[in-house]
Amino acid sequence: MTDAGDTSNFGAVVSVLLPVAVPGPYSYGVPEGIAVEPGDWVSVPLGPRQVAGVVWDTAPGREVDPEKLRPISRHFDTPPLAEETRRFVEWVAAYTMTEPGAVLKMVLRSGDFLEPPAPKMGVRGIGLEPPRMTDARRRVLALAEGGLAWDKKTLADEAGVGAGVILGLVKAGVMETVPLPPARVEKCLDPDHQAPALTSDQADAGMTVREAVRAGHFSVNVLDGVTGSGKTEVYFEAVAEALKTGRQALVLLPEIALTAQFLDRFEARFGALPAAWHSDIAAKTRGRVWRGVLSGDIRVVVGARSALFLPFKQLGLVVVDEEHEAAYKQEDRVWYNARDMAVVRARFHDAAVVLASATPSIETRVNCDQERYRRLQLPDRYGGRDLPTVGIVDLREDAPERGRWLAKPVVDALAACVEAGRQGLLFLNRRGYAPLTLCRKCGYRFHCPDCASWLTEHRFRHVLMCHHCGYSVQAPETCPSCGGVDTLVACGPGVERIAEEVADRFPDARVAVLSSDMLGGPSQLRQQFADIANGEVDIIIGTQLIAKGHNFPGLSFVGVVDADMGFGHGDLRATERTFQLLSQVVGRAGRGADPGQALIQTHMPEHPVLTAMVSGDREAFYAREINARRDAHLPPFTRLAALIVSGKDKQQTRDYAARLGRVAPRGRDGVDILGPAEAPLALVRGRFRYRFLIKAARSVRVQSVIGDWLAAAERPRGSVRVAIDIDPYSFF
Ligand code: ADP
Ligand code: ZN
Repeated sequence: MTDAGDTSNFGAVVSVLLPVAVPGPYSYGVPEGIAVEPGDWVSVPLGPRQVAGVVWDTAPGREVDPEKLRPISRHFDTPPLAEETRRFVEWVAAYTMTEPGAVLKMVLRSGDFLEPPAPKMGVRGIGLEPPRMTDARRRVLALAEGGLAWDKKTLADEAGVGAGVILGLVKAGVMETVPLPPARVEKCLDPDHQAPALTSDQADAGMTVREAVRAGHFSVNVLDGVTGSGKTEVYFEAVAEALKTGRQALVLLPEIALTAQFLDRFEARFGALPAAWHSDIAAKTRGRVWRGVLSGDIRVVVGARSALFLPFKQLGLVVVDEEHEAAYKQEDRVWYNARDMAVVRARFHDAAVVLASATPSIETRVNCDQERYRRLQLPDRYGGRDLPTVGIVDLREDAPERGRWLAKPVVDALAACVEAGRQGLLFLNRRGYAPLTLCRKCGYRFHCPDCASWLTEHRFRHVLMCHHCGYSVQAPETCPSCGGVDTLVACGPGVERIAEEVADRFPDARVAVLSSDMLGGPSQLRQQFADIANGEVDIIIGTQLIAKGHNFPGLSFVGVVDADMGFGHGDLRATERTFQLLSQVVGRAGRGADPGQALIQTHMPEHPVLTAMVSGDREAFYAREINARRDAHLPPFTRLAALIVSGKDKQQTRDYAARLGRVAPRGRDGVDILGPAEAPLALVRGRFRYRFLIKAARSVRVQSVIGDWLAAAERPRGSVRVAIDIDPYSFF
């Protein structure tokens, strides 16, 4: 029970955490006759509004003047928020240095979730005869015998009568209107619906994850298996076990574009669909899913990172597929990594975690080496299929012709592939037509007015667009600076430009261009994925969207247009990420009956990532990269955090950053502070940006260091903000 203060007006005083960015819970009075417990959902007045929140465990503040104390206005008849989830909310808030209410906002995105929709009304017989009996009426009453509630339309259809007959019976008082039981959100999932015969490696791993779920305590299991080794089949074993033990399972996927194919597989395996949760789900369905997760009726959720904050009643398993993906990192409001927070959440729930990847992150790999995580390996592709052979095209020797981007070996291999009736994929991780447009005469470059970035030409849409803020302008005919006609030139390729070259070289091929910004949105994307899987496309041109997870059995050749793009400066994970991305792209080939081949265009064939790709020796790559991190005192051997100071007024923002720089705790043991420095992306959406990087020994609680530091320099009034990024993934 809550430690309630005594006041004259109310029976008790409790803390209520609200989904708003304030420092902590507020105190409210509990009116006589209402009893609340921590975790209960209530509605309370906040200023002029009514806000839904959760009764919290902390003792209410003593400072509230009893005269000013306002009462809880409503106690929802909804299952409580589990204690494990409440502790998780507090933990995430402390770790990410955000208000607990901002984290609760991720749990309760809308107060409407707490209101079940009005039940649909049906009818039932009450065992009486109508004063006037007809054949139609008799048929209806015969069906309705037994007192079961019927949907009016279903009953009319089955009895072969019009709707008027039913209404007549209600009017005559021999049938009554009653609420129908709510439709189930999730059909019954059967853990044994269609279990595949597992290979012996798969069976070993499957047994281990099943046992981990059955054990009912916290464990982290890393499924480290090459592309196409059956990782999904193995973690389905864990899901099956969760279904058997009656606890809920959550499967996180990095991209919602992946969910369609995944849902089909899930349905084939378990006989019904799981609940899906991502930004594309309709608001009404969201409410139903949310309530089903809270009540425990929904057993399995598949979703994007935000699904991690659903109010699970009894979570037994969290799967993080493609655990190395940067898409799990949210860099907005609450800056968190869903992979890491999934592990934390599982610890609170005594649940098992499965992290699956063909290219585990260095962090995860080190956790395995240090035996904090259990590593389960699937070294071979399913069905005796070989991994694709990988070759290098040295662009210094095999340069494409002027204005072209595909070197001869790639063109030849693609031609042979299409000729043989198979599919080829060209990969370039850049959307649009060209990343920069300039005037050949005066040198003018198109850049975003609100960001320090060039505008990317999107030729299909005839616009120039900023990839940081979405700003776009009609592609102009003349140079806005010198008025030159026909002087504008596109520099560098994007996928649309590759498509142009392919159309020219392969006029008869059926081509699909895939990137996240194509017209038509997610539904068209799903259609395109289906077309590819059905063999209705010969050549696929795509960004990283195409690199992940998809299974295209007809695909046998992969050409990487530019492997060097990822080796940017200033990102400690540049090498790792390039290795992961290339492994995934290359891994798309040869998953069907035909063997796969990949060619990678590069100016740096001797780069360790590329030599590892060619030799297939991933262990050598990991060993080398882990050593490099250790030698450079980089994560996971140290901890990083970033402060991003931004504001609309450049002078004020820079001054504040400088002031923070002067009071930075530089002398502290085990703490190193770099900055302030103008951010590589110095202007985003009209905000000027400066960065600090904090490097700390793992034993240092970096949050306290930052907390003390920020308290030492008062933030100016106005638009200046400081974002805190613990364990940063981007450095621009
Ligand atoms: P990964 O997730 O490791 O890339 P998948 O689980 O997608 O691998 O498996 C690759 C392909 O092989 C899929 O089409 C999958 O259905 C098939 N597959 C894997 N294991 C089995 C199995 N034991 N029985 C039948 N098909 C399997
Ligand atoms: Zn912009």
